[in-house]
Amino acid sequence: MANSEFGYVRNFEQPDALSLSNWIVVRIDGRGFTKLCKKYDFAKPNDRRALDLMNAAASEVVKAFVDVVLAYGQSDEYSFIFHESAALFDRRSAKLATSIATAFTAEYCMQWSSFFPDQPLVRPWPTFDGRCVCYPKRKILRDYISWRQADCHINNLYNTTFWSMVLKGGMSPTEAEHALKGTVSANKNEILFSRFGINYNNEPLIYKKGTVIYRSYEGDAVTNGESGEARVADPTSKTQMEKERKRKLKAVIAVEHVNLIGEAFWEAHPYVLA
Ligand code: ATP
Ligand code: ATP
Ligand code: MG
Ligand code: MG
Ligand code: MG
Ligand code: MG
Ligand code: MG
Repeated sequence: MANSEFGYVRNFEQPDALSLSNWIVVRIDGRGFTKLCKKYDFAKPNDRRALDLMNAAASEVVKAFVDVVLAYGQSDEYSFIFHESAALFDRRSAKLATSIATAFTAEYCMQWSSFFPDQPLVRPWPTFDGRCVCYPKRKILRDYISWRQADCHINNLYNTTFWSMVLKGGMSPTEAEHALKGTVSANKNEILFSRFGINYNNEPLIYKKGTVIYRSYEGDAVTNGESGEARVADPTSKTQMEKERKRKLKAVIAVEHVNLIGEAFWEAHPYVLA
Protein backbone atom coordinates (compact mmCIF):
# COMPACT_ATOMS: atom_id res chain seq x y z
CA MET A 1 0.00 0.00 0.00
CA ALA A 2 2.68 2.41 1.08
CA ASN A 3 4.91 1.73 -1.91
CA SER A 4 2.48 2.19 -4.76
CA GLU A 5 3.07 4.57 -7.65
CA PHE A 6 0.74 6.93 -5.79
CA GLY A 7 2.85 7.15 -2.67
CA TYR A 8 4.64 10.31 -3.79
CA VAL A 9 1.59 12.39 -2.82
CA ARG A 10 2.63 12.05 0.81
CA ASN A 11 5.43 14.50 0.03
CA PHE A 12 2.82 17.21 -0.34
CA GLU A 13 2.09 17.08 3.39
CA GLN A 14 3.52 19.97 5.39
CA PRO A 15 5.59 19.17 8.45
CA ASP A 16 4.02 20.77 11.53
CA ALA A 17 6.07 19.62 14.52
CA LEU A 18 6.08 22.25 17.25
CA SER A 19 9.41 23.55 18.54
CA LEU A 20 11.13 21.66 21.33
CA SER A 21 11.28 23.10 24.85
CA ASN A 22 8.06 25.03 24.42
CA TRP A 23 4.94 24.63 26.50
CA ILE A 24 2.10 23.67 24.16
CA VAL A 25 -1.38 25.01 24.78
CA VAL A 26 -4.24 23.36 22.92
CA ARG A 27 -7.25 25.64 23.23
CA ILE A 28 -10.60 24.26 22.18
CA ASP A 29 -13.72 26.40 21.77
CA GLY A 30 -17.35 25.49 21.15
CA ARG A 31 -18.69 26.23 17.69
CA GLY A 32 -21.64 28.60 17.59
CA PHE A 33 -22.39 28.38 21.30
CA THR A 34 -24.22 31.70 21.23
CA LYS A 35 -26.85 29.84 19.20
CA LEU A 36 -26.53 26.60 21.15
CA CYS A 37 -27.21 28.49 24.43
CA LYS A 38 -30.52 29.65 23.04
CA LYS A 39 -31.45 26.29 21.56
CA TYR A 40 -31.07 24.53 24.93
CA ASP A 41 -32.24 27.46 26.99
CA PHE A 42 -29.02 27.97 29.00
CA ALA A 43 -29.51 30.07 32.12
CA LYS A 44 -27.99 33.54 31.71
CA PRO A 45 -25.39 34.72 32.50
CA ASN A 46 -24.17 31.31 33.70
CA ASP A 47 -25.71 27.91 33.17
CA ARG A 48 -24.22 25.71 35.87
CA ARG A 49 -25.12 22.45 34.08
CA ALA A 50 -23.25 23.55 30.97
CA LEU A 51 -20.15 24.45 32.97
CA ASP A 52 -20.29 21.17 34.88
CA LEU A 53 -20.49 19.32 31.56
CA MET A 54 -17.48 21.24 30.18
CA ASN A 55 -15.54 20.33 33.34
CA ALA A 56 -16.58 16.67 33.23
CA ALA A 57 -15.49 16.41 29.59
CA ALA A 58 -12.19 18.18 30.31
CA SER A 59 -11.44 15.90 33.29
CA GLU A 60 -11.70 12.85 31.03
CA VAL A 61 -9.43 14.47 28.44
CA VAL A 62 -6.83 15.25 31.11
CA LYS A 63 -7.05 11.64 32.31
CA ALA A 64 -6.64 10.30 28.78
CA PHE A 65 -3.65 12.49 27.85
CA VAL A 66 -1.03 11.99 30.53
CA ASP A 67 1.24 14.67 29.05
CA VAL A 68 -1.32 17.34 29.96
CA VAL A 69 -0.11 18.99 33.18
CA LEU A 70 -2.97 21.43 33.64
CA ALA A 71 -6.18 22.54 31.97
CA TYR A 72 -8.09 25.78 32.41
CA GLY A 73 -11.66 26.35 31.28
CA GLN A 74 -14.30 29.07 31.18
CA SER A 75 -17.40 29.66 29.06
CA ASP A 76 -17.27 27.31 26.02
CA GLU A 77 -13.47 27.06 25.94
CA TYR A 78 -10.76 24.93 27.52
CA SER A 79 -6.97 25.22 27.39
CA PHE A 80 -4.97 22.01 27.75
CA ILE A 81 -1.32 22.54 28.62
CA PHE A 82 1.28 20.01 27.54
CA HIS A 83 4.58 19.94 29.37
CA GLU A 84 7.46 21.55 27.46
CA SER A 85 9.13 18.14 27.24
CA ALA A 86 6.04 16.35 25.86
CA ALA A 87 6.80 14.08 22.89
CA LEU A 88 3.26 12.92 22.07
CA PHE A 89 2.66 12.53 18.30
CA ASP A 90 6.19 13.88 17.80
CA ARG A 91 4.65 17.24 18.82
CA ARG A 92 2.78 17.46 15.52
CA SER A 93 0.41 20.40 15.81
CA ALA A 94 -2.55 19.08 13.80
CA LYS A 95 -2.42 15.68 15.52
CA LEU A 96 -2.41 17.29 18.96
CA ALA A 97 -5.16 19.81 18.25
CA THR A 98 -7.49 17.39 16.46
CA SER A 99 -6.98 14.59 18.97
CA ILE A 100 -7.79 16.86 21.90
CA ALA A 101 -10.72 18.58 20.17
CA THR A 102 -12.31 15.33 19.04
CA ALA A 103 -11.77 13.62 22.40
CA PHE A 104 -13.40 16.62 24.07
CA THR A 105 -16.28 16.70 21.58
CA ALA A 106 -16.96 13.00 22.07
CA GLU A 107 -16.98 13.39 25.87
CA TYR A 108 -19.22 16.46 25.69
CA CYS A 109 -21.81 14.74 23.51
CA MET A 110 -21.67 11.39 25.31
CA GLN A 111 -22.06 12.99 28.74
CA TRP A 112 -24.69 15.54 27.71
CA SER A 113 -27.68 13.54 28.98
CA SER A 114 -26.19 13.29 32.49
CA PHE A 115 -26.24 17.07 32.76
CA PHE A 116 -29.32 17.85 30.63
CA PRO A 117 -31.59 14.86 31.31
CA ASP A 118 -34.68 16.73 30.12
CA GLN A 119 -33.21 18.08 26.87
CA PRO A 120 -32.15 15.41 24.41
CA LEU A 121 -29.23 16.45 22.23
CA VAL A 122 -30.26 16.86 18.58
CA ARG A 123 -28.42 17.78 15.37
CA PRO A 124 -26.37 19.77 14.70
CA TRP A 125 -24.25 18.14 17.45
CA PRO A 126 -22.00 20.42 19.49
CA THR A 127 -18.46 20.53 18.12
CA PHE A 128 -15.24 22.18 19.25
CA ASP A 129 -12.38 23.59 17.21
CA GLY A 130 -8.82 23.36 18.48
CA ARG A 131 -5.51 25.13 17.95
CA CYS A 132 -1.99 24.80 19.30
CA VAL A 133 0.05 27.71 20.56
CA CYS A 134 3.65 27.44 21.81
CA TYR A 135 5.00 29.36 24.76
CA PRO A 136 8.80 29.26 25.07
CA LYS A 137 8.99 30.29 28.73
CA ARG A 138 7.13 29.31 31.89
CA LYS A 139 6.60 33.01 32.61
CA ILE A 140 4.80 33.52 29.27
CA LEU A 141 2.72 30.39 29.83
CA ARG A 142 1.72 31.80 33.23
CA ASP A 143 0.74 35.04 31.49
CA TYR A 144 -1.34 33.03 29.02
CA ILE A 145 -3.24 31.38 31.89
CA SER A 146 -3.67 34.76 33.59
CA TRP A 147 -4.97 36.20 30.31
CA ARG A 148 -7.70 33.56 30.04
CA GLN A 149 -8.67 33.98 33.71
CA ALA A 150 -8.74 37.78 33.43
CA ASP A 151 -11.00 37.30 30.37
CA CYS A 152 -13.27 35.09 32.47
CA HIS A 153 -13.53 37.73 35.18
CA ILE A 154 -14.13 40.67 32.81
CA ASN A 155 -16.81 38.80 30.86
CA ASN A 156 -18.49 37.50 34.00
CA LEU A 157 -18.67 40.91 35.64
CA TYR A 158 -20.10 42.38 32.44
CA ASN A 159 -22.56 39.52 31.87
CA THR A 160 -23.71 39.45 35.51
CA THR A 161 -24.45 43.18 35.37
CA PHE A 162 -26.00 43.04 31.89
CA TRP A 163 -28.34 40.14 32.73
CA SER A 164 -29.33 41.70 36.08
CA MET A 165 -30.39 44.84 34.21
CA VAL A 166 -32.35 42.77 31.70
CA LEU A 167 -33.86 40.03 33.88
CA LYS A 168 -34.33 41.96 37.12
CA GLY A 169 -34.20 45.59 36.04
CA GLY A 170 -36.68 45.27 33.17
CA MET A 171 -34.33 46.89 30.64
CA SER A 172 -34.18 45.75 27.04
CA PRO A 173 -30.87 44.19 25.95
CA THR A 174 -30.18 47.30 23.84
CA GLU A 175 -30.86 49.63 26.78
CA ALA A 176 -28.62 47.57 29.08
CA GLU A 177 -25.85 47.47 26.51
CA HIS A 178 -26.09 51.23 26.04
CA ALA A 179 -26.09 51.87 29.80
CA LEU A 180 -22.95 49.76 30.26
CA LYS A 181 -20.96 51.45 27.50
CA GLY A 182 -17.83 53.06 28.89
CA THR A 183 -18.30 51.72 32.43
CA VAL A 184 -15.32 50.38 34.39
CA SER A 185 -15.34 47.51 36.93
CA ALA A 186 -16.12 49.82 39.85
CA ASN A 187 -19.21 51.14 38.06
CA LYS A 188 -20.49 47.62 37.41
CA ASN A 189 -19.87 46.56 41.01
CA GLU A 190 -21.78 49.64 42.14
CA ILE A 191 -24.73 49.01 39.77
CA LEU A 192 -24.94 45.40 40.98
CA PHE A 193 -24.87 46.41 44.63
CA SER A 194 -27.07 49.51 44.67
CA ARG A 195 -29.69 48.42 42.15
CA PHE A 196 -29.83 44.68 42.61
CA GLY A 197 -28.39 44.06 46.09
CA ILE A 198 -25.69 41.83 44.60
CA ASN A 199 -22.22 41.86 46.14
CA TYR A 200 -20.10 40.63 43.23
CA ASN A 201 -17.52 39.26 45.69
CA ASN A 202 -20.12 36.75 46.84
CA GLU A 203 -20.81 35.35 43.37
CA PRO A 204 -19.79 31.68 42.94
CA LEU A 205 -16.08 31.14 42.32
CA ILE A 206 -16.74 28.85 39.37
CA TYR A 207 -18.24 31.85 37.52
CA LYS A 208 -15.63 34.38 38.62
CA LYS A 209 -12.50 32.25 38.33
CA GLY A 210 -13.34 29.50 35.84
CA THR A 211 -12.00 25.99 36.42
CA VAL A 212 -8.51 24.57 36.75
CA ILE A 213 -7.83 20.84 36.43
CA TYR A 214 -4.49 19.28 37.30
CA ARG A 215 -2.92 16.06 38.48
CA SER A 216 -2.61 16.36 42.22
CA TYR A 217 0.18 14.62 44.10
CA GLU A 218 -0.77 15.96 47.49
CA GLY A 219 -0.20 13.26 50.04
CA ASP A 220 1.92 11.32 47.53
CA ALA A 221 4.69 10.97 50.10
CA VAL A 222 7.14 8.94 48.03
CA THR A 223 7.37 11.14 44.96
CA ASN A 224 6.19 14.45 46.27
CA GLY A 225 8.44 14.38 49.33
CA GLU A 226 9.43 17.49 51.18
CA SER A 227 10.73 19.29 48.15
CA GLY A 228 7.42 19.15 46.32
CA GLU A 229 9.36 17.53 43.48
CA ALA A 230 7.02 15.32 41.49
CA ARG A 231 9.13 14.52 38.44
CA VAL A 232 11.60 11.66 38.18
CA ALA A 233 15.34 12.16 38.32
CA ASP A 234 16.15 10.88 34.84
CA PRO A 235 13.15 11.58 32.61
CA THR A 236 14.87 10.11 29.53
CA SER A 237 15.26 6.52 30.71
CA LYS A 238 12.61 4.14 29.33
CA THR A 239 11.72 2.47 32.63
CA GLN A 240 11.59 5.81 34.40
CA MET A 241 9.29 7.16 31.71
CA GLU A 242 6.97 4.18 32.10
CA LYS A 243 7.02 4.62 35.89
CA GLU A 244 6.22 8.28 35.44
CA ARG A 245 3.31 7.47 33.11
CA LYS A 246 1.85 4.99 35.62
CA ARG A 247 2.23 7.50 38.42
CA LYS A 248 0.35 10.11 36.38
CA LEU A 249 -2.40 7.63 35.57
CA LYS A 250 -2.88 7.02 39.29
CA ALA A 251 -2.82 10.69 40.30
CA VAL A 252 -5.93 12.35 41.63
CA ILE A 253 -7.50 14.72 39.08
CA ALA A 254 -8.14 17.93 41.02
CA VAL A 255 -10.90 20.26 39.80
CA GLU A 256 -10.83 23.69 41.44
CA HIS A 257 -12.09 27.24 41.04
CA VAL A 258 -9.19 29.31 42.31
CA ASN A 259 -7.07 32.32 41.50
CA LEU A 260 -4.31 31.49 39.03
CA ILE A 261 -3.19 35.11 38.67
CA GLY A 262 -0.45 35.77 41.21
CA GLU A 263 1.78 33.32 43.05
CA ALA A 264 -0.38 31.51 45.62
CA PHE A 265 -1.59 28.57 43.49
CA TRP A 266 1.82 28.01 41.92
CA GLU A 267 3.67 28.19 45.22
CA ALA A 268 1.22 25.70 46.72
CA HIS A 269 1.62 23.32 43.74
CA PRO A 270 5.18 23.77 42.48
CA TYR A 271 5.21 20.37 40.77
CA VAL A 272 2.46 21.27 38.28
CA LEU A 273 4.78 23.19 35.96
CA ALA A 274 7.98 21.49 37.17
P1 ATP B 1 -17.57 30.68 17.73
O1 ATP B 1 -18.08 29.53 16.95
O2 ATP B 1 -16.85 31.70 16.92
O3 ATP B 1 -16.78 30.28 18.96
P2 ATP B 1 -19.61 31.32 19.65
O4 ATP B 1 -21.04 31.70 19.47
O5 ATP B 1 -19.33 30.01 20.31
O6 ATP B 1 -18.91 31.44 18.24
P3 ATP B 1 -17.94 32.51 21.73
O7 ATP B 1 -17.15 33.76 21.66
O8 ATP B 1 -17.17 31.23 21.87
O9 ATP B 1 -18.89 32.51 20.44
O10 ATP B 1 -18.95 32.69 22.92
C1 ATP B 1 -19.58 31.64 23.56
C2 ATP B 1 -20.94 32.11 24.03
O11 ATP B 1 -21.57 31.09 24.78
C3 ATP B 1 -20.88 33.33 24.92
O12 ATP B 1 -21.94 34.19 24.59
C4 ATP B 1 -21.08 32.77 26.32
O13 ATP B 1 -21.67 33.68 27.20
C5 ATP B 1 -21.99 31.59 26.03
N1 ATP B 1 -21.85 30.54 27.05
C6 ATP B 1 -20.87 29.61 27.11
N2 ATP B 1 -21.01 28.84 28.19
C7 ATP B 1 -22.11 29.29 28.83
C8 ATP B 1 -22.77 28.89 30.04
N3 ATP B 1 -22.31 27.90 30.80
N4 ATP B 1 -23.89 29.57 30.41
C9 ATP B 1 -24.36 30.58 29.66
N5 ATP B 1 -23.77 31.00 28.52
C10 ATP B 1 -22.66 30.37 28.10
P1 ATP C 1 -2.57 5.96 14.84
O1 ATP C 1 -3.14 6.46 16.13
O2 ATP C 1 -1.16 6.31 14.66
O3 ATP C 1 -3.43 6.30 13.64
P2 ATP C 1 -3.63 3.32 14.41
O4 ATP C 1 -3.55 2.09 15.24
O5 ATP C 1 -4.98 3.97 14.27
O6 ATP C 1 -2.59 4.37 15.00
P3 ATP C 1 -3.54 3.28 11.52
O7 ATP C 1 -2.34 3.32 10.62
O8 ATP C 1 -4.45 4.42 11.44
O9 ATP C 1 -3.00 3.01 12.99
O10 ATP C 1 -4.25 1.92 11.22
C1 ATP C 1 -5.60 1.63 11.53
C2 ATP C 1 -5.75 0.16 11.84
O11 ATP C 1 -7.11 -0.15 12.04
C3 ATP C 1 -5.22 -0.76 10.74
O12 ATP C 1 -4.58 -1.84 11.33
C4 ATP C 1 -6.50 -1.17 10.05
O13 ATP C 1 -6.36 -2.40 9.44
C5 ATP C 1 -7.47 -1.22 11.18
N1 ATP C 1 -8.83 -0.97 10.71
C6 ATP C 1 -9.39 0.21 10.41
N2 ATP C 1 -10.61 0.09 9.99
C7 ATP C 1 -10.89 -1.23 10.01
C8 ATP C 1 -12.04 -2.02 9.66
N3 ATP C 1 -13.14 -1.46 9.22
N4 ATP C 1 -11.97 -3.34 9.83
C9 ATP C 1 -10.85 -3.92 10.29
N5 ATP C 1 -9.73 -3.25 10.62
C10 ATP C 1 -9.74 -1.93 10.48
MG1 MG D 1 -5.21 5.09 9.53
MG1 MG E 1 12.02 26.85 27.18
MG1 MG F 1 -17.41 29.42 20.84
MG1 MG G 1 -15.72 30.96 23.47
MG1 MG H 1 -5.30 5.63 12.99
